[in-house]
This record gives sequence, C-alpha cells and structure tokens, in this order.
Amino acid sequence: MARQYDLIAIGAGSGGLSVAERAARYGARCAVVEKGPLGGTCVNVGCVPKKVMWFAASIAHTLEDAPAYGFSLAGQQFDWARLKAARDAYVHGINDWYHTYLADSDIAEIVGEARFVDPHTIEVAGQRYSADHIVIAPGGAPLVPDTPGAELGITSDGFFELEQLPRRVAVVGSGYIAVELAGMLNALGSDVTMLLRREHLLRRFDAMLRENLTEEMFGDGIDILARTQVRQLSREDDGTLSLDCENGQRLEGFDQLIWAIGRYPLTAALNLEAAGVACDEQGYIPVDKFQQTGVEGIYAVGDVTGRAQLTPVAIAAGRRLADRLFGGTAERHLPYENIPTVVFSHPPIGTVGLTESEARDLHGEAVKVYQTRFTAMYNALTERKQKTAMKLVTVGAREKVVGCHVIGPGADEMLQGFAVAIRMGATKKDLDDTVAIHPTSAEELVTMR
Ligand code: FAD
Ligand code: NDP
Repeated sequence: MARQYDLIAIGAGSGGLSVAERAARYGARCAVVEKGPLGGTCVNVGCVPKKVMWFAASIAHTLEDAPAYGFSLAGQQFDWARLKAARDAYVHGINDWYHTYLADSDIAEIVGEARFVDPHTIEVAGQRYSADHIVIAPGGAPLVPDTPGAELGITSDGFFELEQLPRRVAVVGSGYIAVELAGMLNALGSDVTMLLRREHLLRRFDAMLRENLTEEMFGDGIDILARTQVRQLSREDDGTLSLDCENGQRLEGFDQLIWAIGRYPLTAALNLEAAGVACDEQGYIPVDKFQQTGVEGIYAVGDVTGRAQLTPVAIAAGRRLADRLFGGTAERHLPYENIPTVVFSHPPIGTVGLTESEARDLHGEAVKVYQTRFTAMYNALTERKQKTAMKLVTVGAREKVVGCHVIGPGADEMLQGFAVAIRMGATKKDLDDTVAIHPTSAEELVTMR
C-alpha cells in the first residue's frame, strides 16, 4: 500500500524544501524525497560553498591592498586544505540543521531516488508514496561536452572537491560559473586561462558589465581566449593536461580543466512518461505561470523549469505554489520579470531589469540611459585600481527605471534595495529625490546626470 500525503516534493533543494515547508505550515501532510544531501545544489555544490570561496578570494585581494593602508604584512600564507575543511564543516552543519528542521516541521524525509508510477504515485527504494499534489524539483547537474578526453576535466562539483589549489587551470565557458571560479582561483594564486567559444563573457548581460569585467579580469592577470573551443583534451606523461583547440592552437601545462558550460535538468530518471508529464528537447519541464505542468496535480519549480536558475527564484516559486494550493490565494504566483541577480566575480556585478539593448529593442527612441564610471574611494590609495561602473536604463517621458546595472566593489550588496524600487515602478526623479549616503559608491545611483 502506498503511503499517502497531501504534497510530495521530489528533491530537497531550494525549491522542494520551500514548497514543503510552506505547505506544512498550512497544515498539509508533506514529504520530501532526496537522493543526495539535504539542501540541494545551493547548499552543497553551489551558492554556499561558492560564497565561502569568494570571501576567501576577496580577503586575498584585501591583503594585496593592505600595504597601501599602512599595514606591513610579512609571511602570510594561504592554506587551501584548512579553508576546505572549514567550508565542508559549515556545509555539513547546514545539512544537519535541515534534518532537524524537517523533523520539527513534521515533514517526512524519504531517502532515495524518486520515479513516477502514475500521476499521483511515486516509488522510492521499492516503497510507493501517493499525494494529491506532486512537485517536481530535482534541479540539474553540470554539463560535460562529448569532446574526446572531456572526462579528464572536472566541473563545478569537482571544484568543491579539490584538495589543493591548482597551479594552472583552464576554465571553459563564459557564464556565471566560469567567471566566478576563474576570479576566485586567480585571487587565491592559480594561473587561470579562460576559453570562450564566442567573443564575450556573460553574453546575455548588459554590454557595459561584460566590457568592464573583461578589463578587470585581464588586469588581474587572467588570460581570456575568445573564440577558442577545445577539440581534444589529453593527459601528458608528466601528469599535466594539454588542449588541442578547434582553431589549431595547442595549450599545454594545465593541472586542471573546469567545464563551466551550463547545466542540464535531472529529469531522465523520473519516469515522467508514467505520469504523462512532457519535457522539452533539453529535458526541462514547461510550466504555466502557476508552476503547473500539463498534468493536473503535478507542478515543477526551480532549475528544472529552465527559467532564471537562481535559488531565490526556486524558493519564491515553491512558497507561492504552496500559498496557492493550501493558503487560499488562488492567483498567487511568481512573475519572472525584474529578478535581481549578482555575479560573484571580482569585482562583483549586480543587475536587475532590462539591458540597454533589450530596452532599445522593446522601446526604441523612448529609452534614455544614464551611466557613470569612476574609481571608488577605497581604490584612491591602493595600487590596484578597480573601476566601478553603473548604468540606469529608463523609458518614456517619466523616465521609468527599467534596468539597473552595477559592477564594482559592493555591487553585490548594493542592488537589493534598488530592485525593490524598480519593482515598485521608480522613476529617475524618484532616485534623484532620494538623499544620498556619503561617502559610498551607491550614492552615484541617486546622483547620476
Ligand atoms: P537543487 O537545489 O539542485 O535541488 C534538487 C535536489 O533534487 C538535489 O538535491 C538532487 O539531489 C535532488 N534530486 C534530483 N533528482 C532526484 C530524484 N529523482 N529523486 C530524489 N531526489 C532527486 N544561485 C543563486 O541564486 N546564487 C548563487 O550565488 C548561486 N551560485 C551557484 C553556484 C554554482 C556553482 C551552481 C552550480 C549554482 C549556483 N546557483 C546560485 C544556482 C542555484 O544553486 C540553483 O538555482 C538552485 O539550487 C536550484 O534549486 P532547485 O530546488 O531547483 O534544485
Ligand atoms: P550559464 O548558462 O550561465 O553559462 C554557460 C555558458 O557556457 C554559456 O554562456 C555558453 O557560452 C557557454 N557554453 C555552452 N556550451 C559551451 C561549449 N560547448 N563550449 C564552450 N562554452 C560553452 O551556465 P553556468 O554553468 O555558468 O551556470 C548555470 C546556471 O547556474 C546559471 O545560468 C545561473 O542561473 C546559475 N548560477 C548562478 C550564480 C549566481 O547567482 N551568482 C552562480 C553560478 C550559477 P555563450 O554564451 O558564449 O554561448
């Protein structure tokens, strides 16, 4: 006999945990199924350990700047193994916390891999479980290309397993993960080469952001090779990796290669056919604005939907779905516009809304852009000069702000409040009428001419 619940979430990552937690608060009988550690990608091999490494890299940069502020630092050393041990312990602490939290919240924890038996029933480790509502939230995993020798490289998952700082690393890709890992490794002392298959980093971001980031990364000593695709990867007798590229170039002497070329959804093992749920050709599950799949009672949230693959998006979609199903708010859903996001590069990027080119495509002549580029006060004394750059994209006579893009120290913490203002429909005049906070970089966003 199948055990019966009101709601089962497949996957205990950002989306699955959030929908179950909110539904349980409304009194629903809930279960989450998880085949790996609780917390999913974000906690175990994503945002959390990544941010720890980003903090470490930021400290490395601060140490470089310290002499300019009068500090004499002698003999400081960096111990990768010590950092990794502390980071792993922190992550395990979060895993443990989730076990307790689920138990305290009366949410059943089902361990193993779920597969559908019919639209209301799943099977995990030979046991069947049924629910009126099943939420598919299995997230994704890093892509590895079918390039010969590709298995000699690692992905972001492997990055978090590294026991020592690689001396020389090739990072293949141009998105969030490539940029973040390249920046961290470089700051911590690796010699980093990035291989981009096209011309630019962060192709979908505002041009101002990617141009400034490219300049900063070059300035930090990262080699960025555009239009360079790996044709074959080989291990040499001395243990190093050599790359033969499509353009005939041969690159040698790497001790690691990291594939950071996107992720794929973990839908293959779910036996979705048994439930009648359709995927697109990449395996993502299409949903309507209520996270509803084509099958009554089956929903999908988070990375598996292929949209805005960010933890707060998975959380918001999950919570709102639970509000709708059990909280009596029939229209509650997550709009996917104006989602703020940060790239934890060095320096970081914060961005929300339309890029300038998206705005011009949509609104043509009605677009007016304000931008600035300056050296932040922190860098006035330091030898390493980082630029901060900002852009506001406005539309119409009222100059409604439809995009805000910032790169520079502090951009990561700067953006959240501006995202609220934009969501509320702020105009350029609203920003101008806001009293500045001095001396900060953020004040430039309310004083731009
Ligand atoms: P996941 O968190 O991936 O959870 C899915 C869970 O389902 C997993 O635990 C998996 O084991 C489990 N599962 C899969 N299939 C089954 C099955 N059949 N049965 C049982 N269990 C199953 N986002 C940000 O917002 N900020 C960041 O700074 C950030 N940094 C990132 C850095 C890296 C390196 C990576 C890879 C991602 C990062 N992300 C970041 C993205 C973020 O981690 C994801 O958007 C988020 O985790 C998606 O949540 P989810 O619930 O959809 O999936
Ligand atoms: P992204 O989609 O951000 O970037 C992948 C990039 O890889 C693409 O831009 C593409 O380049 C390039 N690419 C694809 N295939 C190949 C190939 N065969 N060879 C070379 N390059 C290739 O994916 P990521 O893996 O970086 O990250 C996955 C998602 O996780 C992100 O989209 C983001 O949603 C989330 N994430 C969020 C973070 C944050 O919030 N700070 C941090 C990390 C991840 P091109 O554009 O040139 O075609």
